Amino acid sequence: MTTPNLIGLKKRIALVAHDNKKKDLLEWAKYNRETLSRHHLFGTGTTGGMLERELSLPITQFKSGPIGGDQQIGAKIAEGKIDFLIFFWDPLEQQPHDPDIKALLRLAVLYNIPTASNRATADFIISSDLMNHEYENKTPDLEEYLAKRNLPKFDEVS
Ligand code: PGA
Repeated sequence: MTTPNLIGLKKRIALVAHDNKKKDLLEWAKYNRETLSRHHLFGTGTTGGMLERELSLPITQFKSGPIGGDQQIGAKIAEGKIDFLIFFWDPLEQQPHDPDIKALLRLAVLYNIPTASNRATADFIISSDLMNHEYENKTPDLEEYLAKRNLPKFDEVS
């Protein structure tokens, strides 16, 4: 069973890039500025600040990634408040917040969030005709998952 979650016309898009990928994301965002301007944009602190300055578009900013920003975006995904994740992460360098990155990517998969980890994927996502429509995102039924978990009853715990 699945739970419908409507992605509206105005998508809620989170934008994140590691330091070596910020230039890539900025170029991509500048090229797609017109399309992005029709949506609600979010970003981790440094990425969000850079994009807001360079694109002159409002971006809701979280903390910088290494100090909790990735986790904040993950929390918004879990709450059903972010629809898309454009996250240009760096495959050639370790990050101090690697566990947070893994956690964010995990939640994006769990909640069926369209995710781009590189420019080609971001190009295909943003040019999809689905961006111009409402979309019923069929997220998995997590209530069913929780109900099936074999938890001990509290009176069985000594
Ligand atoms: P930043 O964070 O935008 O604050 O640099 C990105 C990240 O490393 O997750």
